[in-house]
Amino acid sequence: MIIILLGAPGSGKGTIAELIQKKHQIPIISSGEILRAEMNKRTEIGKKVSRFLLSGELVPDEIINSLIENKIKQLRYEQSVIIDGYPRNQNQAIALNKVWKSELIVFYLDLPKKTLVDRLLHRGRVDDTEKIIERRFEVYLNETQPLIDYYTRTDVLIKINEISSMEIFKKIETVL
Ligand code: ADP
Repeated sequence: MIIILLGAPGSGKGTIAELIQKKHQIPIISSGEILRAEMNKRTEIGKKVSRFLLSGELVPDEIINSLIENKIKQLRYEQSVIIDGYPRNQNQAIALNKVWKSELIVFYLDLPKKTLVDRLLHRGRVDDTEKIIERRFEVYLNETQPLIDYYTRTDVLIKINEISSMEIFKKIETVL
């Protein structure tokens, strides 16, 4: 089974992923972490993607799709996995369907924007400046929000309205 965490920047996807991982011993694939690792290691891919991360844009689909596909191929097929930050648009969702045919469940973390922005401003990652945060939200609205409809139509989306990561995790546990 693939557990997808979908939510705006600051919704706590990374924290929730870790809580699920600890409880169920399921590996996490985090697209943001993979990209930041490439950047920190200054690989060819890292050099290509840094300007996207530092401006709040999505990196090109071909790059992220192939990075994620490689990670998925390292898993045993019957194994479950938590994916944090991917897919982020419809193209990516279609690419994921092609590499993973088993069951899929999407948790959509729906928090008020003000809470999210306050959190991000306190987190202090290099892309957590006011200007880049604003762009990340625009990109989220334009590109990622449509996935909510996409996954609702295929009946795999579960919306969670809690704010604290502990409460979100509890709700997720009742489903898993
Ligand atoms: P957040 O959810 O707070 O924006 P992430 O770590 O998920 O944090 O993403 C940080 C940045 O990494 C994004 O702004 C984007 O540039 C890039 N990124 C992460 N995941 C993807 C993805 N699936 N497709 C394209 N770009 C991505």
